[in-house]
Amino acid sequence: MSEHVLRIVPLGGVGQIGKNMMVLEYDEHLLIVDCGLMFPESDMPGIDIVIPDMAYVYERRDRVRAIIVTHGHEDHIGGLPYLLQKVEAPLYATRLTRGLIEVKLREHGLLKGATLHTVSPDDREARLDLDPFQVEFFRVCHSVPDGVGLAITTPVGLVVHTADFKFDQTPVDGRLTDFAKLAQLGQRGVHVLLSDSTNAETEGLTPSERVVGETFDRIFSRATGRIIVATFASNISRVQQVIDAAHNYGRRIGIVGRSMVNNVKMAAELGYLDISSDELLTAQEMNSLPPDQVAIACTGSQGEPTSALVRMSMGEHRQINIRPGDTVIVSATPIPGNEEFVNRTINNLFRAGAQVHYHELAQVHVSGHGGREEHKLMLNMLRPRFFVPIHGEYRHLVLHARMAEEVGIAPQDIFVIESGQVLEFGPDWGHINGQVTEGHVLVDGLGVGDVGTVVLRDRHLLSRDGFVVVVLAVDADDGQVLEGPHIITRGFVYIRESEDLIAEAAQHILAAVQHGGPRSTLGEKIKDSLAEFLYGETRRRPMILPVVMEI
Ligand SMILES: [Zn+2]
Ligand SMILES: [Zn+2]
Repeated sequence: MSEHVLRIVPLGGVGQIGKNMMVLEYDEHLLIVDCGLMFPESDMPGIDIVIPDMAYVYERRDRVRAIIVTHGHEDHIGGLPYLLQKVEAPLYATRLTRGLIEVKLREHGLLKGATLHTVSPDDREARLDLDPFQVEFFRVCHSVPDGVGLAITTPVGLVVHTADFKFDQTPVDGRLTDFAKLAQLGQRGVHVLLSDSTNAETEGLTPSERVVGETFDRIFSRATGRIIVATFASNISRVQQVIDAAHNYGRRIGIVGRSMVNNVKMAAELGYLDISSDELLTAQEMNSLPPDQVAIACTGSQGEPTSALVRMSMGEHRQINIRPGDTVIVSATPIPGNEEFVNRTINNLFRAGAQVHYHELAQVHVSGHGGREEHKLMLNMLRPRFFVPIHGEYRHLVLHARMAEEVGIAPQDIFVIESGQVLEFGPDWGHINGQVTEGHVLVDGLGVGDVGTVVLRDRHLLSRDGFVVVVLAVDADDGQVLEGPHIITRGFVYIRESEDLIAEAAQHILAAVQHGGPRSTLGEKIKDSLAEFLYGETRRRPMILPVVMEI
């Protein structure tokens, strides 16, 4: 029955890092896996976050069976507030992931309207029935606790989605990747494997989180001042490591940064963090206690401009500022694109007199994603009929595909695709078939998607050479110039030192518009003559906005 086809449609995260979102579709029933965000790239001035183009889902919103979330990282949950505003479907996640989602939805005022369910990966026989899909969850280690991979039984066969994973043998929370379940799935026969490619360039195995604990131990044993550790707000295991180290060296702990405060509170309530909230230091205590009794966990490991660490490093935080003698650990590696922000922050920390430990100097962070040997182990345990590398830029996907070939999967059964490309599978076949709308939806303040390529291009122009506004009043009957031109500039030249240039520019404009001609072309004439004059004088091309008033 060839009309019964399983369609797999990645709307993000394939061919790019971030904004992971996948749609599985069978007989017009949709199952959504994850809905993440991406941080803006350096050529997106003013943009807060980037989410997937979800038009494909919006057009089918009544047929969404469920939204399944694999773990609580922003690149998997950050788009949910935007999805849930338009799609009413039940959402399934593990306890901590659900907690992290709730914190986010509450911030957006969407928690009340959402239908959230908790799932547990501990019962290996449990199946979530979302006809025509049955979903099983298996634990995977990652840099946030309670991550799961998915085994989705479909009418054409079993689909396994690894989510983000590594095979940490000594994870901080003691919960291993579920090797037994993976072996069992391999035995049942995996039709399609979708597997994380993030670290496809990294040889060997990713070190255990425990390595970070050992580094913390060394740093804590030597520091005499306050210790401040910056990491991702969702990295609950890392926060636990900070708490443990603090405890071992007689320090009390404070949390700084709104998102981390919220997450820590939630994770402690759910029992994912071993700390009681009345042990936490107040801001006042962080400043007044003897420095060798204070440890602080905070946000800002990516140098995000409004984060706690960045403000602290510049002396602009309301409560805590860096003092000489403080030790700062930046416990993360920069996400590609954030290197400059991170380096600037580290420079400022040194400037403020802190000792700074960061990833180039010490093993203060390990990746949450498995290396090449882990990829091969996953492939060998599951032995899929078809393989699709996901979560990675294009080169990561290709490298992952080559590993699949190395372990014996036929090249024609491996699909290297990018977001928006559609895969179709039957019981004994699979192919790429077409393309759906995908892309970046830019979020700026309250606007979602209203900033597009035109606005971005203007922002680039503005940021390069500034802008010039020309205001001119003409007679509505004969086109005679009655007033002006008045020239206003921003970001182009310092006007007080450029009075001659501006006066001359005004003369050029007057000369250009004097000869009349159709009124409708006045704006163009002003633009052209002024652009030519200014380029000749300054070799700059500011944006020119003519404003012609007919009186
Ligand atoms: Zn992740
Ligand atoms: Zn991820």
